[in-house]
Amino acid sequence: MMARKRGKKKLEKVRTYLRKNDRVMIIAGKDKGKVGKILSIDRKKGRAIVEDANIVKRHLKPGPGTQGGIVEKPAPIHLSNLMLICPKCTDPVRIGRKILEDGKKVRVCKKCGEIIEPASK
Ligand SMILES: [Zn+2]
Repeated sequence: MMARKRGKKKLEKVRTYLRKNDRVMIIAGKDKGKVGKILSIDRKKGRAIVEDANIVKRHLKPGPGTQGGIVEKPAPIHLSNLMLICPKCTDPVRIGRKILEDGKKVRVCKKCGEIIEPASK
């Protein structure tokens, strides 16, 4: 069996400053203006699941052990439709990057200059 070549042909991951558990505002679509927490990010597709946002209804057929019915769950939203909320400005803001003296890369709010750390929870 040949070893698969790694690298260039692999699907490029989307670059984003957004992280799981960030608070974001949805800036386009039917939930425009809604604020929620990022539950998961799919970097390959460039989409994220945001808590209580972009809810779609799925009709489930009744089967063994399940009753069926309608299940509501959040559908992925394109990352370009999300904006990070600065904890200090409490507004959706543009994000810049900064490299600290110790080499650590951080996100900064372009409005107030505050460093926005990824949420731990
Ligand atoms: Zn700010």
